[in-house]
Amino acid sequence: MDRKNLRKNDSWILALDLLRQPIWPLIRLAHMLFLAGGYDAPKDLINDLPSPLDTGSLVYENPKERLYNYLDILEPLVLGKIPTQKILGNDSEELDPIETSLIFYHQKVLERELETINSLLCGPCNCHLCCIGPGAHDKNLFFEIPLRKDELSLFNVDVISTQASKSMSPYDDNSLLINGVPFFELGPIIIEWKRGHSLILSRESICPNLDASLGCKVYSKRPITCRRPQIFAYVIEENSKSGTFQFQGKLLAILDCPYVPELRQEIHQYASLNELDVILTKNRC
Ligand code: SF4
Ligand code: SF4
Repeated sequence: MDRKNLRKNDSWILALDLLRQPIWPLIRLAHMLFLAGGYDAPKDLINDLPSPLDTGSLVYENPKERLYNYLDILEPLVLGKIPTQKILGNDSEELDPIETSLIFYHQKVLERELETINSLLCGPCNCHLCCIGPGAHDKNLFFEIPLRKDELSLFNVDVISTQASKSMSPYDDNSLLINGVPFFELGPIIIEWKRGHSLILSRESICPNLDASLGCKVYSKRPITCRRPQIFAYVIEENSKSGTFQFQGKLLAILDCPYVPELRQEIHQYASLNELDVILTKNRC
């Protein structure tokens, strides 16, 4: 589909509405109204909201419906349930509970909203870049798709699970050898690493679930990683060694994905309404 027609596609129109009217400003408003209004439960507040709701800078046509989609996140936020996760600020000091709560739930809200936006944008692009390994001349030797155990059965490929693989990471300097061959030359293959399983796509290889018409054979059951957007919430970043999170305050967008350069302006607007900085970067070269 060409660029002009993409913007007329129903799925894109919905995604553009979400990018132009992100849910976070509405959640922040609901939070303030809840604290000021003496409500017992977030549902009571939601049911009291007018439709449409004009915040001064944004008009939400269906604020109730939109907030109900995030009720499981809104509830702990407005009821003051502080996450157990530690978030460090720019000075490496631990943030106070109120900041921690806002930042943690902001990340959760964005992850969900961006997954929806990605699903709406990706299909009409007729693109399969996320389902193929690096090109012959890419700097990357392989791409990795982390998998949960219950997702392994979706793939009809060899699974390597040895003492050596389970003690390593795919990014170790000394690469895992399988029968004397570096693992990244053997994909598509699933390997169990120290931190779990992943599908490895070697250079110029394709995911075994990509069918001849470039559709996904397991689309409705595709792994969580395959549902992740190319516009990422990067409000916080986990430090896997310390188990803490570092505040980043950013939105990361991958320019290799065709909808990212096309929607630069909308992505900047979305980030601004979320009070985040944008980082545009390339993954493949
Ligand atoms: S499982 Fe489907 S969506 Fe995921 S990489 Fe393979 S073909 Fe692509
Ligand atoms: S690069 Fe973008 S459009 Fe292409 S498959 Fe990945 S998410 Fe979809």
